[in-house]
Amino acid sequence: MGGEEGGMHDVVVAGGGPAGLSAARTAGEAGARVLLLERESAFGIPTRTSGGSFIADLAALGVDPDLYNPITEVRFLGPTTEAVVRFERPVVCVLDVRALYQRLAERAAAAGVELRLRTTVTGARAEAGGVVVEARGAGGPTTVRCRHAVDATGTAAVLAAAVGMHPPYERRAVGAELDLAAPHCPPGTCWLIVGERLAPHGYAWVFPYRPGRVRLGVGVMRPDSDTDPRRLLDAVLALPALAGALRDAQPVEQHAGLIPVAPLRTPIVGGGVVCAGDSASHASSLVGEGIRYALGAGEAAGRAVGEAVRSGDPAPLRRFERTWHARHRRDFAVAWRVNRALTGFVDARWDAAVEAIGSTPPWFVTASLRTDFRPRHILRLGLTHPRLAARYVRAARA
Ligand SMILES: Cc1cc2nc3c(=O)[nH]c(=O)nc-3n(C[C@H](O)[C@H](O)[C@H](O)COP(=O)(O)OP(=O)(O)OC[C@H]3O[C@@H](n4cnc5c(N)ncnc54)[C@H](O)[C@@H]3O)c2cc1C
Repeated sequence: MGGEEGGMHDVVVAGGGPAGLSAARTAGEAGARVLLLERESAFGIPTRTSGGSFIADLAALGVDPDLYNPITEVRFLGPTTEAVVRFERPVVCVLDVRALYQRLAERAAAAGVELRLRTTVTGARAEAGGVVVEARGAGGPTTVRCRHAVDATGTAAVLAAAVGMHPPYERRAVGAELDLAAPHCPPGTCWLIVGERLAPHGYAWVFPYRPGRVRLGVGVMRPDSDTDPRRLLDAVLALPALAGALRDAQPVEQHAGLIPVAPLRTPIVGGGVVCAGDSASHASSLVGEGIRYALGAGEAAGRAVGEAVRSGDPAPLRRFERTWHARHRRDFAVAWRVNRALTGFVDARWDAAVEAIGSTPPWFVTASLRTDFRPRHILRLGLTHPRLAARYVRAARA
């Protein structure tokens, strides 16, 4: 491959994560001729995410249950405190991310999408009636013409920058993870760990994604902290509270990744480019959770692009932008404010927060972790736990 490719695709999708693979599939299902370009040599390898998610949301997105591990207990570890939240039936889960992304690639292929690996998108420019996407593959630099391009390159947001839609993200979290073979880890329990020593300006986690396999990670906020999270992994691994679960654990893979920590981006449509997933900040900045949003935004963006190709009218793209914004604006804005407040926490405040979680009903903890800040939740909490409700309202307004 080199030079300019002949012919014109309807859609070029840049990036083969959850947003890109979902967008490519739904655009393909709508009848568009779709080319997806992914810089790595496999989908989901390396895995740069830990896969925490919510069962009902994944079911609504059509994610098969064999792709996630249900969780029945979340343990919060503060500097000197611990809170345990148990669920009668699992609502939280951990995805087998690699298996999911490869399944998404199979589904995109079945929808007629051309999948191209080891091809890095380097730029784009609008031209009459479409976009020229610039890329570099095994055969050298090339350009591909299309009617619409989808930016699903994650935090890099390569196309959004290329067409001048947005500058690079200023605030990001950087996470380092160990994927461990951990034969004694209870598969139904996960841990969230906070405090200045182990996760300055961030948090650490232990997420079992199938029996015997666990992702242990640390995420820190940039520019708030310049700590290298890779240096903190050993300290988390050595935590006495994890000694039983991580006995005989051995590393199988180590990786690192970035996630934007930013308010919902707008616009996300312009210059022939549509953004979905992390490139559009479609992720909750509360705990850096973005997979289900990327799946949903990708599907919706792909459908809109497919419709725009069929009708020759860009209106569905604007509708996608408006609908997404309306649906997520409030919750993401609260998550962003809470994130800003938590970033400044010192150990005493973390301990107090973990204690508060210990006396909070599990349904409210789940709703909050899920970035579901509908007023009716706080009203319901106020009926049974008025002081706690007042405290959470103050935190959200901080
Ligand atoms: C350490 C860590 C832990 C996380 N934990 C969770 C979690 O527990 N639960 C959760 O829901 N979310 C989590 N997230 C966030 C989640 O991973 C993202 O929100 C989600 O992956 C976004 O999907 P995406 O498709 O938009 O982008 P990505 O998943 O980042 O996919 C982008 C794809 O584009 C490719 N790409 C990038 N640049 C180019 C280019 N120039 N040309 C071609 N291809 C390119 C990449 O290789 C990648 O395949 C975590 C993130 C990190 C970093």
